Amino acid sequence: MSIALHSLNADLHSHSTVSDGTLAPRDVVLRGRHRRVDLLALTDHDAVDGLAEAQAVAAEIGLKFIAGVEISVTWAGQTVHILGLGIDPDDPTLRTGLERVRSGRLQRAQEMGEKLAEVGIEGAFQAALALAGNPDLLSRTHFARYLVQTGLCGDTREVFRRYLVEGKPGYVPHRWASLKDAMHWIHVAGGAAVIAHPGRYKYDAGQFHALFTEFRELGGEAIEVATSNHGAHEARHFAQQARTFGFEASRGSDFHSPKDADVELGRVDRLHPSLLPVWHRFA
Ligand code: AMP
Ligand code: MN
Ligand code: MN
Ligand code: MN
Repeated sequence: MSIALHSLNADLHSHSTVSDGTLAPRDVVLRGRHRRVDLLALTDHDAVDGLAEAQAVAAEIGLKFIAGVEISVTWAGQTVHILGLGIDPDDPTLRTGLERVRSGRLQRAQEMGEKLAEVGIEGAFQAALALAGNPDLLSRTHFARYLVQTGLCGDTREVFRRYLVEGKPGYVPHRWASLKDAMHWIHVAGGAAVIAHPGRYKYDAGQFHALFTEFRELGGEAIEVATSNHGAHEARHFAQQARTFGFEASRGSDFHSPKDADVELGRVDRLHPSLLPVWHRFA
């Protein structure tokens, strides 16, 4: 396996204002170069609208760019994120599928606003809508930013913990795409499918085994091992899982905003040399 591949500063997971990031697609790319990223993927939630702009800027400044997307999936009652890397943003099957995934977001956000009002937080829906670059992609992140602005919570993590996760007052359950559909859209569009931040999911060992087995049967290529969402222990654990299941491994910061000091483009642990970087397909 080539050492050059491992030494590339690849960041294959990032967000722009097209979903719940705070930088425009072009500014994500410019920041990527500034942060010495060698290979960058923009992976907005359920949307490909930022890719043309990002691609054009990357070409202008000579940064290697991969068109990506992060699809919201419901599997065994929980939300799982599947990254599609190296997709054709114009593929009609992918575009129609993503439209379907996005269509429930506005209604869900209205319900979130109503539930927050029940615990005395008024006007959250309108405020979140105003913060979202794209009403189609209104996200829990926009609610979290608003609740930080009001001074109710110190940071977005606290908002999620106290208000926006299952069992908390602002949480509204939602049904996203099936794993099978999401992977079909990614593969039809020529991309590789990657399970994003597996350490975030609250599955037991048996459920993880079932998820990885089904993902492999559906032709899944890789799992994200190095990510700002993983501690050292999780990174080691999922590196081992990648070896066990024969998956390639991905590396991505999950960058959303310069205001989040803990997460920066290109600043993620390297992959262990025993893993095959998924970017061997693109580099
Ligand atoms: P949604 O797709 O609307 O359910 O929002 C999911 C987004 O919320 C993720 O992509 C993250 O950006 C953000 N998020 C989820 N969990 C947390 C958390 N515990 N702390 C901060 N942000 C989170
Ligand atoms: Mn996000
Ligand atoms: Mn995610
Ligand atoms: Mn993400």
